[in-house]
Amino acid sequence: MSDPRTAAVYPGSFDPIHLGHVDIIHRALTIFPKVIVAVLENPEKRALLEMPVRVKLIRESLAGLAGVEVASFSGLLVDFLRSSGARVVLRGMRAVSDFEFEFQLSLFNRRLWADAETVFLTPNEEFVYLSSRVIREIWAFGGDVSSFVPAPVYAELTRRRSVASHRA
Ligand code: ADP
Repeated sequence: MSDPRTAAVYPGSFDPIHLGHVDIIHRALTIFPKVIVAVLENPEKRALLEMPVRVKLIRESLAGLAGVEVASFSGLLVDFLRSSGARVVLRGMRAVSDFEFEFQLSLFNRRLWADAETVFLTPNEEFVYLSSRVIREIWAFGGDVSSFVPAPVYAELTRRRSVASHRA
């Protein structure tokens, strides 16, 4: 069994990474010496940002933070865990509405690999309402998301908007 103190894997779509995610990563680094942000390539979901861009923006948003790695993966999370030498899955818990899905997921993962353990962290209250889906929607309708996302994400979204408006 790998050493549970070595790393926690934080999986998600991160499309885009937002300040709630960043808060969870900061908190995790006070518990685990290493956090691997694992960006899921989900062919069933139409993404706003392409995978290499998502990974790049996460790296830029977390620049200077010791103990963070960013990787992409597809397929089973437990396979990614094993290949990373980690057994802890890190998940954020915003509200009761997250609970049912997260509970099911954690039991599934443990069923697939008995060593897998899920650790839930809660964000600061100011980030509880944030989700990438809502941020994508606000952005699509022309709203200001600058207070929800790290500066590199906002810069990329703004760049895309200006390219799109020049094309129009
Ligand atoms: P989102 O739910 O924002 O679309 P992801 O699917 O990428 O983002 O979520 C990855 C992980 O981050 C999940 O465990 C999710 O519960 C957690 N998370 C998402 N938003 C927040 C938030 N505002 N505060 C804390 N955790 C969050």
